[in-house]
Parts: sequence; C-alpha cells; structure tokens
Amino acid sequence: MRVKKRSEDMDEKQTLLDKLAPPAPGMQKITDVRSLERIANTIRRSVVQMLHAAKSGHSAGSIGLADIFTALYFGVANHDPKNPEWANRDRIVLSNGHVCPVMYAAMAEAGYFPKEELLTLRKLGSRLQGHPHRGTLPGIENSSGPLGQGLSIAVGMALFAKRKRKSWKVYCVCSDGEHNEGQIWEAVMAAAKFKLGNLTAIMDRNNIQIDGFTEDVMPLEPLAEKYRAFGWHVIEVDGHNIAQIIKACSEAKRVIERPTMIIAHTVPGKSISFMEFITEWHGKPPSDKERDQALAELKELDEEGYEGA
Ligand SMILES: [Mg+2]
Repeated sequence: MRVKKRSEDMDEKQTLLDKLAPPAPGMQKITDVRSLERIANTIRRSVVQMLHAAKSGHSAGSIGLADIFTALYFGVANHDPKNPEWANRDRIVLSNGHVCPVMYAAMAEAGYFPKEELLTLRKLGSRLQGHPHRGTLPGIENSSGPLGQGLSIAVGMALFAKRKRKSWKVYCVCSDGEHNEGQIWEAVMAAAKFKLGNLTAIMDRNNIQIDGFTEDVMPLEPLAEKYRAFGWHVIEVDGHNIAQIIKACSEAKRVIERPTMIIAHTVPGKSISFMEFITEWHGKPPSDKERDQALAELKELDEEGYEGA
C-alpha cells in the first residue's frame, strides 16, 4: 500500500473541516487544521513544562489528550474566555480530573488566564491544583478527582438544559479506566432514559490505567456495542485527528433524542517517544533530561507536521 504523504493527509483533514457548517456568528473558532495542530503541540509542550516544574502529576494521559482539548476549546465549544460564566456557554466537564494539566494548558492558550501561571501547577496556594476545583479557577465547571463522577455531573447539567430549553451543549471528557466504576453505568442509563441529545461524552480510549492495561485490570470491550445497547449514539475516531474529532462533535449535535459517546482512540504520551504506551508514565513527571528530550521531539513535530492518522 502506498504510504500517504503528510501534505495529502493534511488536505484530507482540511477537507473534512471545510465540509462542516461555519461557526456561529461571534464565536472565535479555528477552522485551519495546521493551526489547530500547532496549538495542540504547544499544549503538549506546556504540559511537559508544567509537570517538570511540579515534580509530580500525570504525564501520559494529559499529553495524549492534547488534540481532544484543542478540538473542544478551539473548534467545538461555544465559550468566552473573557467571560467564563457566560450563561449560554457550552459546558466542558472533565471527569478524570488527574489529567487536568492538559485542560489548564488549553484554557491558558485560549485566554482564560496568563500562561505564566501554568508553572504554578500543584504549588501551595495555586489556582491550578492537581485535581481541578470549581470556584478557584474561572472556567472550571466541576471539581473532580474521585473517578467516575464527571459523567453523572454532565448528565445533571444536560438534564437541566433540556428541561429549561437551553441551547447550550454539555461535553464530558472521561477515561476508559473510569468505566470500572459502577457510577459511570448509572449515568449512561440515566442519559439514555432522559434522551439527552445535548450531551456528548468523549472517552479517552488510551488502553491504560494506573495499574496497567485496561483489558488486564478489568476488560471493557466491546465498548461501542455496550454503549449502543444502552441507547447511545456511538462514533469512533482517531483521537489525534483533530478534524475527525470536530466532525464527530458536529454529528453529535444533529442527534437529538440520544446522547452521543465519541470513543477516541488515543496513544498515551502521544508524540513523545519514550512515553508512548508505557504504563509507568501514567503518574510520573519528566526529569530534567526527559523534559529536554520531550521538548526537542515536540519542536521537531512542529517543524515537520503531524504523521498521518
Ligand atoms: Mg486510560
């Protein structure tokens, strides 16, 4: 099979985005794939620097979610970084709170707070705690940390919006490992019962959790079939193809009577050679040397562009 050139790959991704409806008036969204990928890479760099400075935190999951958070904050959600409590904003709920460095980095990039503050991660008195806290940092919708709760919070928000006939949507990022928790499945059932078409969940299907590979710890598959059986609309995407993620969220908006689960297949530690798929990087920060190598690899990626999906 002929290997696709990166330029052809970029054209394909751009064509995907160009076919979507234009952003709503007044919403600052980026529709150029190359720009989106550069933002994702900047977010990866920020995460490396933050975790190195904090000397603790969760590297692999945070790095692996950079493309998804870029899609949400720059291509999907209606929000206003200068007015974080804007009543009509879409709600972005993070369920697996330990990957918050990627959310903080995306928020800083979008303009919620100065980027210099990122280096205060996990420091005493910082607004950027190791698990997010609603009320401390404007733009954070929910406190999180205890796993499996975020989807329930998102269901509550979506139910409120539906009953009050609000037009805003709820996006919930959750992990695959969280599906070990019974509370997730209670939320899955409730979302289908209440026909929450305004709820889109994105699962970081990176196949790892703190104790190892998900299928060893507690087999989850067949996830797509399970969600369909529970009455959800299911879309599977390459979690590093920002155009695919944005397109899937656009499709989810058109599904009115069912919630949507986007299963995003991701590589933990994506783009950093010594982190990819290595479970020990779930909860470990980079050393001085590892930070330097990671930043060098990401710089190269910026110059060369992304690999094909
Ligand atoms: Mg995982």
